[in-house]
Amino acid sequence: MNADTPPPEHLAAPGTEKPRRFRPKLRYELIGCGLHGHELLGTDAAALRPEDELFARESGGLRWYRCMRCDSWVALTPPDHPTRKYPPSREEITLPLRGKPLRNRYVLRLIAVDRLVHFLALGGLATVVFCHVNGASPELTDDEAFTLVMDVASTNIDLSTIAERLRLTTTTN
Ligand SMILES: [Zn+2]
Repeated sequence: MNADTPPPEHLAAPGTEKPRRFRPKLRYELIGCGLHGHELLGTDAAALRPEDELFARESGGLRWYRCMRCDSWVALTPPDHPTRKYPPSREEITLPLRGKPLRNRYVLRLIAVDRLVHFLALGGLATVVFCHVNGASPELTDDEAFTLVMDVASTNIDLSTIAERLRLTTTTN
């Protein structure tokens, strides 16, 4: 680091800031850990190295693991049957999404759910409307139905006019 560069701004760990009264801050990391559990490293390691102190420490017979997503420290007992000697090295670690990329993922999923709800609701409504139209006017031919749909699509026709035309079509047949 250059002497002229200012030190990086200190960012508080998610969930440690004092909440504002009227505009609380939503921490997407906490949602992720609430849904999927904490992202802990080295829970299956037999021993810890000094360089692992960033995310795992031993104290008082317990191991403290730092969540890679939300920065929470979780105390667990060391594993009874470790499967590896040391925690994974930095090259083996894939960090979970945090901050704005994680927020973008949740927003995109929310948009997808919104689209799905619209698709299901409008599809169901269209099915009900078409079933009702077919039940009310079984004599409506394909040409008449096509003309009606094209008229509705091309003009600013209101619902009462559509109902009147359907009624006329039904009574004339
Ligand atoms: Zn977490």
